[in-house]
Amino acid sequence: MTKSNPFGPPDVDGHIAPKSAAHIQRKLLKWGRANTFSYPWRETKNPWHALTAEVMLQRTRAAQVLPIYLDLTTRYGNPEGWLADPHPLAFTGLGLPIRHEQYRALNQKLAGQRFPVTRDALLSLPGVGDYIASAMLSFHLGQRAPIVDANTVRLYGRLFGFQTHAETRRKTWFRRLAEQLTPITAHRAYNYALLDLSRTICTRHPLCARCPLRSRCVSAQAGMYPRPHNELIPERVLQM
Ligand code: SF4
Repeated sequence: MTKSNPFGPPDVDGHIAPKSAAHIQRKLLKWGRANTFSYPWRETKNPWHALTAEVMLQRTRAAQVLPIYLDLTTRYGNPEGWLADPHPLAFTGLGLPIRHEQYRALNQKLAGQRFPVTRDALLSLPGVGDYIASAMLSFHLGQRAPIVDANTVRLYGRLFGFQTHAETRRKTWFRRLAEQLTPITAHRAYNYALLDLSRTICTRHPLCARCPLRSRCVSAQAGMYPRPHNELIPERVLQM
Protein backbone atom coordinates (compact mmCIF):
# COMPACT_ATOMS: atom_id res chain seq x y z
CA MET A 1 0.00 0.00 0.00
CA THR A 2 1.24 3.47 -0.89
CA LYS A 3 2.15 5.75 1.98
CA SER A 4 0.45 9.14 1.96
CA ASN A 5 2.30 12.40 2.10
CA PRO A 6 2.47 13.30 5.82
CA PHE A 7 1.97 16.97 5.00
CA GLY A 8 -0.88 16.36 2.58
CA PRO A 9 -1.35 17.47 -1.02
CA PRO A 10 -2.48 20.97 -1.99
CA ASP A 11 -6.23 21.52 -1.73
CA VAL A 12 -8.28 22.39 -4.80
CA ASP A 13 -7.16 26.03 -4.54
CA GLY A 14 -3.48 25.08 -4.34
CA HIS A 15 -3.18 25.76 -0.60
CA ILE A 16 -0.91 23.62 1.57
CA ALA A 17 -0.37 23.61 5.32
CA PRO A 18 2.02 26.38 6.44
CA LYS A 19 4.19 23.79 8.21
CA SER A 20 4.57 21.93 4.92
CA ALA A 21 5.71 25.08 3.11
CA ALA A 22 8.09 25.94 5.96
CA HIS A 23 9.60 22.46 5.93
CA ILE A 24 10.22 22.51 2.18
CA GLN A 25 11.71 25.99 2.39
CA ARG A 26 14.09 24.94 5.18
CA LYS A 27 15.24 21.84 3.32
CA LEU A 28 15.78 23.63 0.03
CA LEU A 29 17.58 26.57 1.60
CA LYS A 30 19.93 24.25 3.47
CA TRP A 31 20.62 22.25 0.31
CA GLY A 32 21.13 25.44 -1.65
CA ARG A 33 23.80 26.75 0.73
CA ALA A 34 26.03 23.83 -0.23
CA ASN A 35 24.94 23.15 -3.78
CA THR A 36 23.69 26.24 -5.59
CA PHE A 37 25.71 26.91 -8.74
CA SER A 38 27.78 30.04 -9.10
CA TYR A 39 27.54 31.89 -12.42
CA PRO A 40 28.67 35.43 -13.21
CA TRP A 41 25.12 36.48 -14.09
CA ARG A 42 24.00 35.45 -10.62
CA GLU A 43 26.49 37.83 -9.05
CA THR A 44 26.22 40.85 -11.34
CA LYS A 45 24.86 44.14 -10.04
CA ASN A 46 24.10 45.32 -13.57
CA PRO A 47 20.44 44.51 -14.30
CA TRP A 48 20.99 44.84 -18.06
CA HIS A 49 23.72 42.19 -17.90
CA ALA A 50 21.39 40.01 -15.82
CA LEU A 51 18.55 40.43 -18.30
CA THR A 52 20.92 39.62 -21.15
CA ALA A 53 21.84 36.36 -19.42
CA GLU A 54 18.21 35.44 -18.73
CA VAL A 55 17.35 35.99 -22.41
CA MET A 56 20.35 33.91 -23.50
CA LEU A 57 19.50 31.10 -21.07
CA GLN A 58 16.11 30.52 -22.64
CA ARG A 59 16.38 27.06 -24.18
CA THR A 60 20.20 27.22 -24.01
CA ARG A 61 22.51 25.52 -21.52
CA ALA A 62 24.56 27.62 -19.10
CA ALA A 63 27.84 26.16 -20.39
CA GLN A 64 27.04 27.45 -23.88
CA VAL A 65 25.95 30.84 -22.62
CA LEU A 66 28.95 31.44 -20.34
CA PRO A 67 31.70 32.45 -22.87
CA ILE A 68 29.30 34.58 -24.91
CA TYR A 69 27.95 36.29 -21.81
CA LEU A 70 31.47 37.05 -20.60
CA ASP A 71 32.48 38.45 -23.97
CA LEU A 72 29.37 40.61 -24.29
CA THR A 73 29.45 41.98 -20.74
CA THR A 74 33.15 42.82 -21.08
CA ARG A 75 32.42 44.86 -24.20
CA TYR A 76 29.18 46.56 -23.12
CA GLY A 77 27.67 48.02 -19.99
CA ASN A 78 24.28 49.14 -21.24
CA PRO A 79 21.84 48.83 -24.14
CA GLU A 80 22.99 52.11 -25.70
CA GLY A 81 26.55 50.82 -26.01
CA TRP A 82 25.43 47.59 -27.62
CA LEU A 83 23.12 49.37 -30.07
CA ALA A 84 25.91 51.72 -31.13
CA ASP A 85 28.14 48.80 -32.13
CA PRO A 86 26.25 45.51 -31.81
CA HIS A 87 28.50 42.52 -31.57
CA PRO A 88 27.35 40.11 -34.28
CA LEU A 89 28.19 37.05 -32.19
CA ALA A 90 25.89 37.79 -29.25
CA PHE A 91 23.20 35.33 -30.30
CA THR A 92 24.43 34.01 -33.62
CA GLY A 93 27.23 32.49 -31.49
CA LEU A 94 24.52 30.47 -29.80
CA GLY A 95 23.16 29.45 -33.18
CA LEU A 96 20.17 31.67 -32.65
CA PRO A 97 20.11 34.48 -35.24
CA ILE A 98 16.37 35.12 -34.68
CA ARG A 99 17.01 35.87 -31.03
CA HIS A 100 19.71 38.34 -32.08
CA GLU A 101 16.96 40.40 -33.74
CA GLN A 102 14.75 40.01 -30.68
CA TYR A 103 17.63 41.15 -28.48
CA ARG A 104 18.05 44.22 -30.69
CA ALA A 105 14.36 45.05 -30.23
CA LEU A 106 14.73 44.57 -26.49
CA ASN A 107 17.67 46.98 -26.34
CA GLN A 108 15.88 49.54 -28.47
CA LYS A 109 13.03 49.51 -25.96
CA LEU A 110 15.40 49.76 -22.99
CA ALA A 111 17.68 52.49 -24.40
CA GLY A 112 17.34 55.90 -22.84
CA GLN A 113 15.03 54.86 -20.01
CA ARG A 114 15.47 53.72 -16.43
CA PHE A 115 15.66 49.97 -16.10
CA PRO A 116 12.12 48.62 -15.51
CA VAL A 117 11.52 47.35 -11.99
CA THR A 118 7.91 46.12 -12.04
CA ARG A 119 6.46 42.90 -13.41
CA ASP A 120 4.21 44.77 -15.85
CA ALA A 121 7.07 46.91 -17.15
CA LEU A 122 9.30 43.86 -17.58
CA LEU A 123 6.54 41.94 -19.37
CA SER A 124 6.15 44.81 -21.82
CA LEU A 125 9.70 44.20 -23.11
CA PRO A 126 10.23 42.18 -26.30
CA GLY A 127 11.10 38.56 -25.54
CA VAL A 128 10.33 38.84 -21.82
CA GLY A 129 7.74 36.37 -20.55
CA ASP A 130 6.60 35.29 -17.14
CA TYR A 131 9.71 33.27 -16.26
CA ILE A 132 12.21 36.02 -17.15
CA ALA A 133 10.12 38.67 -15.38
CA SER A 134 10.04 36.56 -12.19
CA ALA A 135 13.75 35.77 -12.46
CA MET A 136 14.61 39.46 -12.80
CA LEU A 137 12.37 40.43 -9.89
CA SER A 138 13.59 37.76 -7.45
CA PHE A 139 17.23 37.37 -8.49
CA HIS A 140 18.18 40.93 -9.37
CA LEU A 141 15.59 43.43 -8.17
CA GLY A 142 14.95 42.19 -4.63
CA GLN A 143 11.26 41.45 -5.13
CA ARG A 144 9.63 38.16 -4.16
CA ALA A 145 8.36 36.21 -7.15
CA PRO A 146 7.82 32.47 -7.66
CA ILE A 147 10.06 30.80 -10.22
CA VAL A 148 8.02 28.51 -12.45
CA ASP A 149 9.45 26.58 -15.36
CA ALA A 150 9.08 23.03 -16.69
CA ASN A 151 11.61 21.68 -14.19
CA THR A 152 10.10 23.28 -11.09
CA VAL A 153 6.58 22.20 -12.15
CA ARG A 154 7.85 18.62 -12.48
CA LEU A 155 9.49 18.73 -9.06
CA TYR A 156 6.39 20.10 -7.29
CA GLY A 157 4.20 17.55 -9.08
CA ARG A 158 6.34 14.65 -7.89
CA LEU A 159 6.73 16.09 -4.41
CA PHE A 160 2.99 16.49 -3.80
CA GLY A 161 1.83 13.75 -6.14
CA PHE A 162 -0.25 15.61 -8.72
CA GLN A 163 -0.31 15.28 -12.48
CA THR A 164 1.44 17.94 -14.51
CA HIS A 165 1.38 18.94 -18.15
CA ALA A 166 2.38 21.88 -20.32
CA GLU A 167 -0.46 24.09 -19.02
CA THR A 168 -0.03 23.35 -15.30
CA ARG A 169 2.22 26.36 -14.78
CA ARG A 170 -0.56 28.70 -15.93
CA LYS A 171 -3.24 27.32 -13.59
CA THR A 172 -4.35 29.59 -10.78
CA TRP A 173 -4.13 26.83 -8.18
CA PHE A 174 -0.54 26.05 -9.23
CA ARG A 175 0.48 29.71 -9.12
CA ARG A 176 -1.00 29.88 -5.62
CA LEU A 177 0.97 26.81 -4.56
CA ALA A 178 4.22 28.20 -5.98
CA GLU A 179 3.54 31.57 -4.31
CA GLN A 180 3.00 29.89 -0.96
CA LEU A 181 6.24 27.95 -1.22
CA THR A 182 8.34 31.02 -2.11
CA PRO A 183 9.74 32.52 1.12
CA ILE A 184 9.04 36.17 1.88
CA THR A 185 12.63 37.17 2.62
CA ALA A 186 14.85 34.31 1.39
CA HIS A 187 13.10 34.06 -2.00
CA ARG A 188 16.30 34.58 -3.99
CA ALA A 189 18.23 31.76 -2.31
CA TYR A 190 15.16 29.49 -2.36
CA ASN A 191 14.54 30.08 -6.06
CA TYR A 192 18.15 29.39 -7.01
CA ALA A 193 18.08 26.18 -4.94
CA LEU A 194 14.76 25.15 -6.51
CA LEU A 195 16.09 25.77 -10.03
CA ASP A 196 19.32 23.87 -9.40
CA LEU A 197 17.70 20.96 -7.55
CA SER A 198 15.06 20.47 -10.23
CA ARG A 199 17.67 20.70 -12.98
CA THR A 200 20.28 18.38 -11.45
CA ILE A 201 18.51 15.99 -9.03
CA CYS A 202 14.77 15.88 -9.81
CA THR A 203 15.47 15.23 -13.46
CA ARG A 204 13.67 12.92 -15.88
CA HIS A 205 15.34 10.04 -14.04
CA PRO A 206 15.48 11.56 -10.56
CA LEU A 207 18.31 10.92 -8.13
CA CYS A 208 16.05 10.69 -5.09
CA ALA A 209 18.74 9.29 -2.81
CA ARG A 210 20.49 12.67 -3.10
CA CYS A 211 17.37 14.82 -2.73
CA PRO A 212 16.79 16.82 0.46
CA LEU A 213 13.01 16.50 -0.01
CA ARG A 214 12.82 12.73 -0.29
CA SER A 215 11.42 12.11 3.22
CA ARG A 216 8.35 14.21 2.36
CA CYS A 217 8.07 13.37 -1.33
CA VAL A 218 4.99 11.39 -2.36
CA SER A 219 6.78 9.81 -5.33
CA ALA A 220 9.94 8.94 -3.41
CA GLN A 221 8.00 7.50 -0.48
CA ALA A 222 6.12 5.27 -2.86
CA GLY A 223 9.46 4.12 -4.24
CA MET A 224 8.37 5.22 -7.68
CA TYR A 225 10.29 7.79 -9.66
CA PRO A 226 8.10 9.28 -10.92
CA ARG A 227 4.92 7.88 -9.47
CA PRO A 228 2.66 6.06 -11.94
CA HIS A 229 0.26 8.36 -13.70
CA ASN A 230 -2.87 6.62 -12.37
CA GLU A 231 -1.76 7.17 -8.76
CA LEU A 232 -1.39 10.94 -9.12
CA ILE A 233 -4.05 13.46 -8.14
CA PRO A 234 -6.01 14.06 -11.35
CA GLU A 235 -5.53 17.52 -12.76
CA ARG A 236 -9.31 18.11 -12.94
CA VAL A 237 -9.50 17.98 -9.12
CA LEU A 238 -7.13 20.93 -8.94
CA GLN A 239 -8.53 22.92 -11.83
CA MET A 240 -9.13 26.56 -10.97
S1 SF4 B 1 12.61 12.81 -3.82
FE1 SF4 B 1 12.96 12.33 -6.00
S2 SF4 B 1 10.99 12.64 -7.07
FE2 SF4 B 1 10.88 13.63 -5.02
S3 SF4 B 1 11.43 15.76 -5.37
FE3 SF4 B 1 13.31 14.69 -4.79
S4 SF4 B 1 14.28 13.99 -6.70
FE4 SF4 B 1 12.15 14.59 -7.16
